[in-house]
Amino acid sequence: MSYTVAIVGRPNVGKSTLFNRFLEQRKAIVDDISGVTRDRQYGIAEWNGKPFNLIDTGGFVPQSDDIFEVEIRKQVKIAVEEANAIVFMVDVATGITDLDDAMADMLRRSTKPVYLVVNKVDNGQCELDATEFYSLGFETIYTVSSISGAGTGELLDAIVAPITQADIDGILAQEELPKFAIIGQPNVGKSSLLNALVGAERTIVSDIAGTTRDTIHTHYNLFQKEFILIDTAGLRKKTKEKEDLEFYSVIRAIRAVDEADVCLLVIDAVNGITAQDVNIFSLAARKGKGIVVLVNKWDLMNKETNTARDYEAKLKQKIAPFTDVPILFISAKEKLRILKAIEIGLEVYDSKKRRIPTSQLNEVMLKAIESYHAPVVRGHAVKIKFVTQIPTHVPSFAFFTNYPDDIKAPYRNYLENQLRSKFNFKGVPVRIFFRKK
Ligand code: GDP
Ligand code: GDP
Repeated sequence: MSYTVAIVGRPNVGKSTLFNRFLEQRKAIVDDISGVTRDRQYGIAEWNGKPFNLIDTGGFVPQSDDIFEVEIRKQVKIAVEEANAIVFMVDVATGITDLDDAMADMLRRSTKPVYLVVNKVDNGQCELDATEFYSLGFETIYTVSSISGAGTGELLDAIVAPITQADIDGILAQEELPKFAIIGQPNVGKSSLLNALVGAERTIVSDIAGTTRDTIHTHYNLFQKEFILIDTAGLRKKTKEKEDLEFYSVIRAIRAVDEADVCLLVIDAVNGITAQDVNIFSLAARKGKGIVVLVNKWDLMNKETNTARDYEAKLKQKIAPFTDVPILFISAKEKLRILKAIEIGLEVYDSKKRRIPTSQLNEVMLKAIESYHAPVVRGHAVKIKFVTQIPTHVPSFAFFTNYPDDIKAPYRNYLENQLRSKFNFKGVPVRIFFRKK
């Protein structure tokens, strides 16, 4: 388990200011795009060597008062359900409002620690004014100025006090779970796929922090396997700043690829694979990520006997030379093969992680080399005597030879194909090096 702290409070009390201050050390990226609002923001904060997940529960709240109440209640409910502790923020500049009272009522019933934080205590006079908040019925009040940072050290001391070694290990373990990113162009069905997965199995463990605030990591548990889905669709769109949004969505897509072990590349079956899709595919491959291609909206296709086979053949031409990739025909809308997509993603992850024992590798590969030798170059025989897998995050193989510079692409490809056919590396980029023996 890891430790999660949620910040709740009505709008404008300074929640996101505090959130950003807490995340400072972890270099949060603050992208205040107008026209874009977030439900929640996530990050990993750290104090005195104790990392914890931090959630800022409420950015945008609708104008109308009724909806307002509903949203606030939802916010508090989420916080109480998802977090281990709650920072309940109020604002000395405005004093106690009805909403503060309402939230205090809900939070006093929580069995989890609640830290009442009076913000905007920028000077001594405010310090006196802050005492009125004792009437909210919490034993301790923490007075802070989120803007200057005054008082936040004591607050953090209190927040991290209950964090155990197991919690710290939990955060580190989070970072070791398989990470999937659903990537693709706008409108191919990424959010639909995500929603379909959520609907398919109510087994989400929790939302946790990405390494940047552009991504949300959701911890899943399917087929008794745990994995993290990196969500870049965490931003709600308003039509205005369309260009900005597209720009940011590209940046976020790149970040998601960086953070992922396996990319689920979604393409639109009707449009077919486009140049932009191929760019994304190559990007993921160059970065050494596992790849599964999901041809979505398959329900819209007019299916004849060979449609899938022909489609796959054409698609492979476009993504060549890296064609040893799983291709699945899915429908997020009709929930067709969506769990299969995850299952295959996990297989790709396992292949990517696999270390082939050197003895087995040599036994198989030296036989392949024996049956088809590297071409003779300038009158001398090119001999490969030994192969080993290099311990890197992308499966990489070093072939030891007398003439490393004389082995050309076709033979390199032969070796890669042999590796792929003898050991399963479907969806995994593989690297091959020749070294002087
Ligand atoms: P949120 O809606 O609760 O997330 O609030 P914000 O973090 O957006 O802050 C609302 C306003 O309060 C902003 O104008 C902040 O600059 C201001 N603010 C936040 N913290 C402090 C503080 O400690 N002192 C003062 N004077 N203003 C603050
Ligand atoms: P995103 O921008 O990639 O997240 O795409 P969305 O999930 O928002 O989907 C874009 C549009 O495609 C929406 O109108 C969806 O209802 C539709 N859509 C998504 N998946 C499918 C599918 O499997 N079949 C069909 N027919 N429509 C889909």
